[in-house]
Amino acid sequence: MTPPKVTSPFRHIAIIGGGVSGLAAAHRLGELAAGAQRPLQVTVFEAQSALGGLVGTKEVDGYRIETGADSFITNKPGAIRLCERLGLAGELIPTDARFRRSLVLSRGRAVAVPEGFQLLAPNSLWPVWKSPIFSLGGKLRLAAEPFVPRPAQPVVDESLASFVRRRLGQEALDRLVQPLVGGIYTSDPERLSLRATMPRFLDMEASHGSLIRALQAESGESRGPQDRTASGARYGLFATPRLGISQMVETLVARVRQTAQIQTSCPIESIDSAVEDDGFVLRLGGREAVRCDGVIVATPAHRAAQLLKGLRPAASQALGEIEYASTVIVVSGHRLADVAHPLDAFGLVIPAIEKRRILAVSFTSRKFPNRAPEGSVQLRTFVGGAMQPELVRQSDEAIVELVREELTELLGVTWRPEVVVVARWMNSMPQYHVGHLDIVQRIENDLATTPRLALGGNALHGVGLPDTITSGETAAERVWQNLEES
Ligand SMILES: Cc1cc2nc3c(=O)[nH]c(=O)nc-3n(C[C@H](O)[C@H](O)[C@H](O)COP(=O)(O)OP(=O)(O)OC[C@H]3O[C@@H](n4cnc5c(N)ncnc54)[C@H](O)[C@@H]3O)c2cc1C
Repeated sequence: MTPPKVTSPFRHIAIIGGGVSGLAAAHRLGELAAGAQRPLQVTVFEAQSALGGLVGTKEVDGYRIETGADSFITNKPGAIRLCERLGLAGELIPTDARFRRSLVLSRGRAVAVPEGFQLLAPNSLWPVWKSPIFSLGGKLRLAAEPFVPRPAQPVVDESLASFVRRRLGQEALDRLVQPLVGGIYTSDPERLSLRATMPRFLDMEASHGSLIRALQAESGESRGPQDRTASGARYGLFATPRLGISQMVETLVARVRQTAQIQTSCPIESIDSAVEDDGFVLRLGGREAVRCDGVIVATPAHRAAQLLKGLRPAASQALGEIEYASTVIVVSGHRLADVAHPLDAFGLVIPAIEKRRILAVSFTSRKFPNRAPEGSVQLRTFVGGAMQPELVRQSDEAIVELVREELTELLGVTWRPEVVVVARWMNSMPQYHVGHLDIVQRIENDLATTPRLALGGNALHGVGLPDTITSGETAAERVWQNLEES
C-alpha cells in the first residue's frame, strides 16, 4: 500500500515506545520546539494500553507498591533534572537514614555489608577485618589489593569476575561483589563488562594502581555527611517521588500531552524509508501507515532489532546480539510482628555461592516512608535473573511458594501476608556483556548514516532510570538538530 502523502507544514517526529525513555524524548522535543518557536508534530506510539513501560506504582490495601523500579540514583543527572523541570523537585524524598545499610547472606546468616564497601572494594580495611563475611585468607587477600600490580598493557575490557578476582581475590567476588553488583544488573559476573557498566573502577586501577587507595583518596573529599554512614551501594544517593515512581511518569505524561499526541495499544510493526523523500513510513497493526520526518525508537533492543531489520540491517543485527535477562518480583506485605528479623537495613542480597532460590530482598518500607501501613512492612523479593533463568519459567503460585520458604528460613517470616503482588519482567534487563561497547559502536556507526533516526532506551548506555532518561533526551536532540539543519 502506498503511504498517504502528507501536506502538513509541521515536521512530524514519531517515537516508538511509551516507556520512560520514549516519554523523556517526547518531553525534550516539546522543550526544543518551544525554545525555537517552531511548530512540531510529535506522536508517541505505545504497544501496551498503559504508559511507563517497566515502571508502575500500585496502591493495594494501604501499601504503595512499586512493581518495577523503586528509586533512582541522583549522582547521574537524568532523572533528577527531569524531575526538577517537571516541578517535582519538592516531591522527591531521600532514603531513610536510620536504616541506611545493606545486608548480605553469609553462610546462611544475614550480616551487614562492611561500612565503606563500594560495590567492588572497600575504602577502609578495618570494617573488612571485623566482618564475619570473609575468612582470614580472604581478608589477607583483600588487604593485599594495593600491592597487586597493574596489568602490563592497559585493559580495554574485562569481565567483572576477572577484574575482581585478580585485584581482590575469589572470596571478595563470591561473598560480596557478585551479590552487590547482581542487585543492579542481575548478571553473570563472568560475562558482565566492567568497561560498559562501572568503568570508574578500571580508571581507578589505571590512575592509582589500587581501588582501595583510590577510594580512600575519594572518601572524605567528595562524600557528604549523609554518605559517611552508608554501606554497600551508596543508598544516601537514592531518591524517589513521595507518591512513587509513577508520580514522575504521570507528571511527565501530562506534560507531554500538552505538545504531543500519545497513541496507546498501538504497536509499530516496521519502519521503512519513505519512497518520495527522506522521511520514514511506520506500519501499524493492520495495514495503516504513518509518514514522519524523524523517528526515535525507544523499545527494548530485541524489538528495535525487528523494527530496523529492513531499514538498517547492520544496526538490527547488532541490536539482536544484546541479550536480556528476566526477573520476577514478589511483593509481600507483612505485620512486623510476623517477621522475626529486625529488618534494620534497606535489604538483603544473596550470593550465588549460598545456593538459594532468591537474588535479593528489598525492605522497601525501610527505605522510603508511606510504603506500608503503620506496624507493617513491605518486602520485594527478586527471583531469576541471568544466573537462575529456569526459576522465572514457573507459575506465579510456585514462585510465591518458593519466596515463602526462603523468607521464612532467612528472615523468620511467619507467612500470613496482608498483600502479595507478583510482577513478571520477562526479557526486560539488557545484559552488558564483555564486547558490549563494540556492539554499541557498530549500532552507532550504522545509524550515523541515518541522522533522523535515533535510539533511546536502556540497552546501550546505562540500565537505570537516569541513563534511560538521558538516552531519550539525547535521541530527541539528535533528531531535532538534523531536522533543523535539513
Ligand atoms: C525489575 C526491574 C527493576 C528495576 N529497578 C530500577 C530501579 O530501582 N532504579 C532504576 O534506576 N532503574 C531500575 N530499573 C531499570 C529501569 O526501570 C529501566 O531502565 C527503564 O524503565 C527502561 O525504560 P525504557 O523506556 O528504556 O524501556 P521500557 O520501560 O521497556 O519501555 C519500552 C516501551 O516500548 C514499548 N514497545 C515495545 N515494542 C513496541 C512497538 N513495536 N511499538 C510500540 N511500542 C513498543 C513497550 O511496550 C514499552 O512500554 C529496573 C528494571 C527492572 C526490570
